[in-house]
Amino acid sequence: MRPDLLNPLFAEASGLKGVGPGLARPLEKLGLKRIRDFIYHLPDRFVHRRAIADLDEGSIGEQVVIALTPVEYRGGPSPKAPFRVLAEDAKGNLCTLAYFGRNAGWAKKQLPLGEKRWVAGRLDQFGQNLQIVHPDHVNPEGAAMLGQLAEAIYPLSEGLTQGRMAALVQQALTHAPDLPEWCEQGVVDRMGWPVWREALTQAHRDEHKEARDRLAYDELLANSLALMLVRASNRRTQGQALRGDGRLRGALKLPFALTGAQARAIAEIEGDLAQAAPMLRLLQGDVGSGKTVVALESLLIAVEAGAQGALLAPTEILARQHFETLRRMAAPTGVNIALYTGRDKGRARESILMGLMDGSIDIVIGTHAIFQDAVVYRNLGLVVIDEQHRFGVGQRLMLTQKGKGTHCLAMTATPIPRTLTLAQYGEMDVSRLDELPPGRQAIDTRVVAQERLGDVVEALARHFSTGQQAYWVCPMVRESEVADLAAAEERHEMLSLRFGEDAVLVHGQMKPEQKDAAMERFASGQAKLLVATTVIEVGVDVPNATLMVIEQAERFGLAQLHQLRGRVGRGSEKSTCLLLRGETLSEVSRERLALMRETQDGFRLAEEDLRLRGGGELLGTRQSGDTPFRVASLDQITRLLPMAHDDARLLIERDGGLTGERGAAARVLLYLFERDWGVQLLRGG
Ligand code: ADP
Ligand code: MG
Repeated sequence: MRPDLLNPLFAEASGLKGVGPGLARPLEKLGLKRIRDFIYHLPDRFVHRRAIADLDEGSIGEQVVIALTPVEYRGGPSPKAPFRVLAEDAKGNLCTLAYFGRNAGWAKKQLPLGEKRWVAGRLDQFGQNLQIVHPDHVNPEGAAMLGQLAEAIYPLSEGLTQGRMAALVQQALTHAPDLPEWCEQGVVDRMGWPVWREALTQAHRDEHKEARDRLAYDELLANSLALMLVRASNRRTQGQALRGDGRLRGALKLPFALTGAQARAIAEIEGDLAQAAPMLRLLQGDVGSGKTVVALESLLIAVEAGAQGALLAPTEILARQHFETLRRMAAPTGVNIALYTGRDKGRARESILMGLMDGSIDIVIGTHAIFQDAVVYRNLGLVVIDEQHRFGVGQRLMLTQKGKGTHCLAMTATPIPRTLTLAQYGEMDVSRLDELPPGRQAIDTRVVAQERLGDVVEALARHFSTGQQAYWVCPMVRESEVADLAAAEERHEMLSLRFGEDAVLVHGQMKPEQKDAAMERFASGQAKLLVATTVIEVGVDVPNATLMVIEQAERFGLAQLHQLRGRVGRGSEKSTCLLLRGETLSEVSRERLALMRETQDGFRLAEEDLRLRGGGELLGTRQSGDTPFRVASLDQITRLLPMAHDDARLLIERDGGLTGERGAAARVLLYLFERDWGVQLLRGG
């Protein structure tokens, strides 16, 4: 049960004054649902203004606050010209306040002639004159503006303004109660951190490193604690020891020898499975490193030991592909493998459910549907999760574990820096496939200007004439899924003009049947070109596809580019990756694309990505997509996570049930960050 003290924070946003149905969508877009979300909606940056007594004091380009008196209105000569308000300062210097669009009425109301107003905005030059375009604030009273010369700039969505957002956040802050201290007092003192409530207020008021760090630390601590509680609970759980006799694995006829890394990983897994305490292991291996066969061998161990195995894939496409691959590889063993997805209906569904219940199905492969209540296993011994979503792992592990003591192997193709491994997987044991199967050719990666699109299309035509296939990846416009789609559809249309039926389109909004059909045409070689949004990032394996074009490559993160590129270079033919870039590139983008050309080492790319994006920024950039955190930036994760981790460990060692005073505070923390699945694992929690 959530501590009562947190109730005000978990109240719906609709309880805030001024939040009506009109704001529902814009707020939802930002993930702002409850009071808690508002208080943690931290500014991206601050605008700093200087109060000046007269215009002579200000400089061009400076953000100022100044008292001005409007003296004349000037409507534009054409309806398109701005509406201008001529205003003078205390010395009689003139300045123009310019309003574009149809804002004349509003401007007149705000700036009545002859009445002094406090104006905040950026001082610019326009011809011979000084001008402020669309002042940020106009106020009859100076006090408010002078008291807040640093103004928070919040992430917004359409339909919201900074003023509105700031007011909502301030209102939400008044609902924040005092909370007990969950951090180790020594840490708080040493770092000079304010207490929680104070930290929140300060973080919204000004750049306040200590405040921001404290809030980030809280989140990191909550995460570490929750993952450790999962781990501790796991150790207490009695599972079944699975000892295989090797008869099924011996029957496998793999077309290749295992790499050293694969053999090591399998041995580690075998060791874990032989213990009664459920395995909690992460298999980390770059794209193409051969995780699938490790999964298969692990599943076979479970079957040899008389249990069943399940392989959970993030998408249907991938589930289907795993099914085909595993069934082919495992054919000589005679094990019964089934595919189960949410789409199975009627008789087919019934028969799979029966098979799982009576144990005639040894291994099931599917999407999350395999964990629905309706699915009952005779004896599920091992779950392998082909993890693509990078976070929420702890939670998912718990779901698959709950009470059953099932062994669990999570696989990830995302090479993440060690610091982030800790953040996302906490106390899991890790096996790394740090060696690619032999004979892989380097992928020839080139950066090409977008203007040369025509040449690229011709290169594609030549490529197809050799019988090989290709991918075309359209960029992801983060702001809008609809725009993404439009871009992909438009590109597909253009390429269809040239390649006709040979070009198929796949994107995230398609019906699964359509998506499968398109994938199928491509995988079988009927279609030569797969035009896609980033949905292909997850695990498609078509060795004959040896060319990849990525449009607006500068928009992607390095890790993501790496994942995408990993779709080619899977066969024996030489592969090429063309990174199309826009006209204007920032220094960082240039560096990133150069790195892609230079290396194919996923771990190195991940480290560099972290370096290029993360370090040094005062407020940091939150990267909610890549980490399980909303508050902590990459930089903060790197700096503070090791500390949070140690702090969490100490707390659990001293008070594993979280029953002491600090333990109780830590429970509050876990609920605050919705890591309460950790609490629920506590005995009697
Ligand atoms: P991952 O899932 O790690 O990205 P896969 O398991 O799909 O990689 O393997 C990529 C390709 O490498 C597959 O075609 C697979 O058959 C092949 N492969 C796996 N292990 C080896 C090996 N030891 N030697 C040669 N090829 C291998
Ligand atoms: Mg894979």
